[in-house]
Formats: sequence, C-alpha cells, structure tokens
Amino acid sequence: MIDGFLKGILTLMNIQNLATWLEIDLIQLKENLSELQKMTGKPVMAVVKANAYGHGLVDIALAAEAAGSPWCGVARLEEALALRQAGVNAHILVLGYTPPGSAVLAAVENISLAVYDRATAQAYAAAGIESGKTLNVHLKIDSGMGRLGVFPEEGVVMAKYLQSLQGIHLQGLFTHFARADEPELPATNQQLAKFANLVKDLEKDNLKPEFVHASNSGGTLAFNDAWYDFVRPGIAMYGLSPSSKALVPAALKPILSWKTRLISVKELPAGYGVGYGHRYVLTKPEMIGALAIGYADGFRRVPGNEVLIAGKRAKVIGSVCMDQCMVQLGDIPEAKIGDEVVIIGKQGEQTITADDVAARWGTINYEVIAGIAARVSRVYVR
Ligand SMILES: *Cc1c(COP(=O)(O)O)cnc(C)c1O
Repeated sequence: MIDGFLKGILTLMNIQNLATWLEIDLIQLKENLSELQKMTGKPVMAVVKANAYGHGLVDIALAAEAAGSPWCGVARLEEALALRQAGVNAHILVLGYTPPGSAVLAAVENISLAVYDRATAQAYAAAGIESGKTLNVHLKIDSGMGRLGVFPEEGVVMAKYLQSLQGIHLQGLFTHFARADEPELPATNQQLAKFANLVKDLEKDNLKPEFVHASNSGGTLAFNDAWYDFVRPGIAMYGLSPSSKALVPAALKPILSWKTRLISVKELPAGYGVGYGHRYVLTKPEMIGALAIGYADGFRRVPGNEVLIAGKRAKVIGSVCMDQCMVQLGDIPEAKIGDEVVIIGKQGEQTITADDVAARWGTINYEVIAGIAARVSRVYVR
C-alpha cells in the first residue's frame, strides 16, 4: 500500500507536466459524504451526473462507493453504463429519461430507470422480458417542479399500473424540489405535503416501493421530513452550497481546485492591442502574461475574469481565446513562465471560490463546475 503522503507526492510530480488541470481531494469527498450521512442518518446517493459535476464521473463514483454510498445517481444511461464498465457495483438510478431502445441494456446491467409515462413503461416492460431479467424502475412524481413526473393525484393509479406489468419491478418512488435552496419559502413544504400524502396512500394500499426518496442538497440541508430512505445531495457532496440561503455546514468543504500555468511573460508597448478584436489596447507599456486556459476548457469568454498568480489577484484582459487568455502582470514582477495559476482555489492568502466565479459569470456554482471541459486533466488526491 502506498500511503497517502507518498501518493500525494507522486500526484504532485504529475502535476508538473500539466498545463491546465483540476486537483480533486477524494479524502475530503469522503468526509463530505460521511458528514451528510451523519447529519441525516440516511444512506447517501452520490449524484454523479454531468461528469460528477465536473469532478470526473468514474473516480468520484468509485470513491463514493468505497465511502459507503449504496446508490449513484446519473442523468443519462451512457453515464450509468460507464460506471458499470468501470466496476461500480452500487445501485445506479438514471434520474432523467432513457429511450426505450436502451432499456434492455439497462436491465442487463442492473441499472434502475425513472419512469413517469405509461407508453414508456410498457416499452420498458417488454425490454425487461426480452432481457430475461427484471428492469427496476422508480416512479417519478411531479409534486411541483413542473418538469418530469406524474402528478401526485395520479400516483396510486400509476403505481398499480406499473406493478401490473411483467418485466419491470417498481423499486422506487421519488420527487424533486424546485425551491429547496430557498428554505424560507413555503414551496418545498407544499411539494413535500403532496408527496407525503401519496406515500401514505401507497402505504395504505400496500403499494409503497422499497426506496422512497426526495431530497436534493437543499432538501438534505433544510427539510428533515424529506429524507425518506436515502438523500440525493449533488452540489453539497462536492462541498458547495446550493444557494446563499442554503449554506452547507462548515464541515463540508469544496474538493476541487482549478489550475493552469503562466505560459508567456513579456512587455508590450503603448498602443499595442491584445487578443482577438484587440479588446484591450495598452495606454502605457505593460507586462502581459498568457495563461494556458480558454473557453474550450470551460473558462468563459466574458470580461472581468480574475485569477491568482504568486498569491496575488491578476486581471484577465481582452477576449478569452479558445485555449489561452491574457493577464496583466504589472503588480506581479516576480511572475515567470511555468508559474502555477489558480482559477478556483487557494494560493497564499488569496482564495477564489466557484461562487466568486459564478457571480462574475452571472450564473450559479453548479454551471461553473459542470462546465469544466473534459479535456482538462483531473488529478486525484487519495
Ligand atoms: C441533480 C439532481 C439532484 C442533485 O441536486 P443538487 O441540487 O445538486 O443537490 C437530485 N435529484 C435529482 C432528480 C437531480 O436531477
């Protein structure tokens, strides 16, 4: 066994060879998961859709499984199949839509599918029979999200229908909250009341499936009544808060740092234009650097970006290019080619969070991290 410290050093050696990368702390991931589990007293579904919110689908799922998460949640069957191929044995649920043509594969690989429509359910049932196995399905309830699901009032009839079909097994029942990240509003309790009623009715008729689940991160953090048989915190397991009104406890910490390198340092003369469109023109001679990161890495082509170099804030100027962007180095005379640059994370006394970047980009932390491109190397600290 290589101990953590030595492994860490080996990892850092690899980093020397990278121009743009993510450092992902799997030890902290396990702490985050165990904290969520302790907080709720429920098993945690690791929500690993969208390349595990940018953190890397397979490595995150394997780490979560090793940490005791009995479920993985994904959005697409392709993600679920990649997990099975990588040796993930945990239960997997595809939370989104799966075309019936792929349902045989799902059955063969023991992947559970969401269902909320009779015709699709029939097709799934046929696929289940064809596979020679049983396809597990979770009935999705639209308790107020306005997205996927049957209305709570239709839940009992739909559950009966699903249980009448050969080839599928009604393994779960779930709903999704629209505003659990705004816990002060009544919306979540209203959704929850409808869902809880349905659960009660199903119980009465002996129709309640084995796994009832409802809580995204917001629900997990603020709505105890919504925890049911397991919780489904996505953003919180990555140590980020679903909103400024629904903060993760201090024990949950971000596990991702996004870094790049300074790849050019030179003085440009007054009047010189920088980058496509010459969106920045020097009014005096200035030290200008280039970074090995661009919009094709997920670093948005918007004005106002900032990064950390030598523990100081540096402004990105001009248009962000596909693979590079340029920075002002006037206040950082010590900057040199090869220096590590932080996009998200800590350097010296300075920190840039995913929330800081989200504020600059006019979006939410979810979109910032989920948008980090596949070509960016992920380096794991275990
Ligand atoms: C993405 C997703 C989650 C996790 O949401 P977070 O806000 O990241 O916690 C949970 N359930 C479903 C159905 C989802 O699509």
